[in-house]
Amino acid sequence: MSSLEHHDLLAGLVRLHILHHAAEHEIYGQWMIDELARHGYKLSPGTLYPMLHAMERRGYLSCRRLREGRTVRKLYSATDFGKAGLALAKIRLRELSGEAMKAKTKKTQLKEKAPGSRGELAASRAAVKR
Ligand SMILES: [Zn+2]
Repeated sequence: MSSLEHHDLLAGLVRLHILHHAAEHEIYGQWMIDELARHGYKLSPGTLYPMLHAMERRGYLSCRRLREGRTVRKLYSATDFGKAGLALAKIRLRELSGEAMKAKTKKTQLKEKAPGSRGELAASRAAVKR
């Protein structure tokens, strides 16, 4: 049975991903597991279902039961409260990804500077040899 890697860190992102799709259309457990797998999140039903239930309890998702033969499928959709939470999270996410990408650019710039300083070092060594 697989569970979510770095659960504490990524659980929030997974919840937002769930909310994003549940705001667009009704979702059910297995569909969400497949969708998350497509994005690199390996979640077992034992991890996803308690997440869905908790999000329903907290008012982010509403659930309706659809009978399909002998089984009952639970279909989840985002509530207004869930949509409001998602809208706020998107603003925060944009901020974070903007900052995170900027940090990456700085790192790249530092790397680009490095050969220059090594070049200076080589030049000063050459000067000593002379
Ligand atoms: Zn998705």
